Amino acid sequence: MTPEPPLRLALDEEALVHNWRTLDRLSGSARAGAAVKANAYGVGARRVTKALARAGCRDFFVAYSGEAAELDGLVDPSSISILHGPQDANDASFIAARGYRPVINSPHQAALWLDASSARCDVMVDTGINRIGFSMDDLADPTIGRLDVQTVLSHLACADEDSPMNDCQRALWTDAVLHIGKCESSLANSAGIMLGSSYHGHLTRPGLALYGGIPRAELAGEIRQVVRPQAAIMQVRDLQAGDTVGYNATYTAAGPLRVAVVALGYADGYLRCWSGNGMLRSNGRELPVLGRVSMDMTVIDLTAAPELREGDWVEADYSLPEASQASGLSQYELLTLLGRRFTR
Ligand SMILES: *Cc1c(COP(=O)(O)O)cnc(C)c1O
Repeated sequence: MTPEPPLRLALDEEALVHNWRTLDRLSGSARAGAAVKANAYGVGARRVTKALARAGCRDFFVAYSGEAAELDGLVDPSSISILHGPQDANDASFIAARGYRPVINSPHQAALWLDASSARCDVMVDTGINRIGFSMDDLADPTIGRLDVQTVLSHLACADEDSPMNDCQRALWTDAVLHIGKCESSLANSAGIMLGSSYHGHLTRPGLALYGGIPRAELAGEIRQVVRPQAAIMQVRDLQAGDTVGYNATYTAAGPLRVAVVALGYADGYLRCWSGNGMLRSNGRELPVLGRVSMDMTVIDLTAAPELREGDWVEADYSLPEASQASGLSQYELLTLLGRRFTR
C-alpha cells in the first residue's frame, strides 16, 4: 500500500446519522433525502451514503452521473437523482442504462431523456433563483407531458433568510406541482426545512446540515459537528525572542517559544485566511496558528502542550458556523475545500 500523507478527516458517523434523523423529523410528514453531490460536500460520498442508507434514507442527490456511479453497489440506482440532468445523448444513455433518475431541467434535456428512455425522472422548475430548471413559461412545453415524472423540484434562493422571496417561490412551486400533476414534490434544502410544513412537500433535500452546517439559527441546538480535520506534527522548534515565522515573517516571537510545524496547508483547503487566526488543538488545549499558512505546512504555538512531538496529531477548530465567522468563508466552502490529501 502507498503510504498516506499524515492528514485525516475524522468523520463522526453517529453525528451524521443524528443530523439526518433530526432533519427527517423536522421535515414533518415529508421524508428527508440527502444531498451527496461533490463527494458529499467533501466528506466522502460512499461512507456518507452507506451510513444514511442504513439509517433509512432512500433519496440521494448528486450533481452528475459520474457522481452516481461512485455510489455503485450501495443503494438502488433509482434512488439516486442526478440534479444537473443528462448533459448530452451519451450521458442520457448512460443514466438510462444504469437506472439512475435524472432531474430534467429544460425542454432540451427532456428531449434527450425521451430519446434515451421512458423511465421515470424528476423535473426541476426554476421559481426565481435563475439557475437551471424549467422556467414557469417552459411548463407549457408539450415534451413535459410525455415525461414520467416522479418528483417536481424547485430550489429556494433565500431559505437561510426571512425573505419575502421564500413565499413567492413556494407559491410558484405549488402551481408547477399542480400543473404537472400525479407526482411528488420537493422544495426545501437544509434551511428550507425550517421554514415550516408548507415548504416540505413529500421530500426534503438537506445537504449542509447533514454535515454539521447551521444555515438558520433554529438549527443551532439540533445539529452536531460531523467532520474534524486532523494533521500530524512534522517538526518541533524552539524559537528565541525576535525569531520570525513563515513567509513574509508576519509573526515575531516576543520571547522563547516552542512551536510545531503541522502537515496542513492551503493546498489541503486550510486557506491563508487562517494565517495568525486559526486554532488547532490537542486534547482541548489551544494551539494558535502563528504567521502565514503555507501550501503544505502551518506553524502553531505549542505553549499549551509543550510535550507534543513529531508524529503527534492535532486537530483544527472546524465547527462550521464558528469557523465561517472566523474565516469569512461560507460553511459550504469550508467543507468542499478540504483537499484530496485527507484520508477520509
Ligand atoms: C445542493 C442542493 C441541495 C442541498 O442544499 P443545502 O443548502 O446544502 O441543504 C438541495 N437541492 C438542490 C437542488 C441542491 O443543488
